[in-house]
Amino acid sequence: MYGYDLLVVGSANADLVIDVERRPAAGETVLGGDLAVHPGGKGANQAVAAARLGARTALLARVGDDAHGRLLLDSLRAAGADTVGVLVGGAPTGVALITVDPGGDNSIVVSPGANARLMPADIGAAVSLFLASRVVSAQLEIPLETVVEVVRNLAEDSRFVLNPSPPRPLPTEVLAACDPLIVNEHEARVILGDACVSEEPADWARLLLAKGPRSVVVTLGAQGALVCDASGVTRVPSVKAEAVDTTGAGDAFTAALAWKLGGGSSLAEAAAYAARVGAAAVTKRGAQESYPTAAEVEAR
Ligand code: ATP
Repeated sequence: MYGYDLLVVGSANADLVIDVERRPAAGETVLGGDLAVHPGGKGANQAVAAARLGARTALLARVGDDAHGRLLLDSLRAAGADTVGVLVGGAPTGVALITVDPGGDNSIVVSPGANARLMPADIGAAVSLFLASRVVSAQLEIPLETVVEVVRNLAEDSRFVLNPSPPRPLPTEVLAACDPLIVNEHEARVILGDACVSEEPADWARLLLAKGPRSVVVTLGAQGALVCDASGVTRVPSVKAEAVDTTGAGDAFTAALAWKLGGGSSLAEAAAYAARVGAAAVTKRGAQESYPTAAEVEAR
């Protein structure tokens, strides 16, 4: 009997957002709007999204012993996620400094901070969480060697879901554990590298599958998603949404998919539900603040 439906291993950041008329040139200062501070980071986002849906969720991450760390812990707890695996201290909490121009384009500087100090030894020390978790998900805002250690610590019958963001080439050992590997267009192109010889998302899915994962999902924003496994490629219908802010939609999609897979859904069924969750998430501003409950998904 598993204690958790989903264990998320990954990053937790404070997103510091300022609206600006234009970006400063080197040596220049510009005045912006009021500072907004939001809980973020792909790991914390996924954990909050899953917990909001009702999944029994734990996060394994590292934050600093500071106000941003407390903001993140509060957000996780408010959503109902278990923070027993959130390590505190060693460096300041990770921060994303975000300026948004009037056209809505972001410029972002990330200070990984404590995320960069989530080490392989921290994974080994959390083996009880791995044994208790039906599904484990990860992203790449923590050291790659830590993700390798995650794969090595998976319980025998648990399932591993990876969103390789920000993308970089992946070791065979990690690719082989993914079921599925979840990528957007940019991530697909980076992971395929020279092998990206087509402009067709269905071809990316097949080419990615050939690199070793047991299954692949390609997310296509408003166009929905594709799923791919040994039986072929299936299109997941897009779900209509009045998009206000797409920040964190991919994290909500991944969390929902991972939770549904653990509950016994097929990959196509889980992705169809995840597309409904992703569509709900884009209708509100922010990332964690925009995530729906299961009842809100049903009501849409
Ligand atoms: P992000 O990095 O912004 O979190 P992403 O690029 O990883 O997102 P997307 O492909 O943009 O991921 O979105 C994930 C899923 O969310 C999509 O597959 C889709 O199901 C849903 N989604 C995203 N944008 C929209 C939209 N405008 N309308 C409806 N559904 C959407």
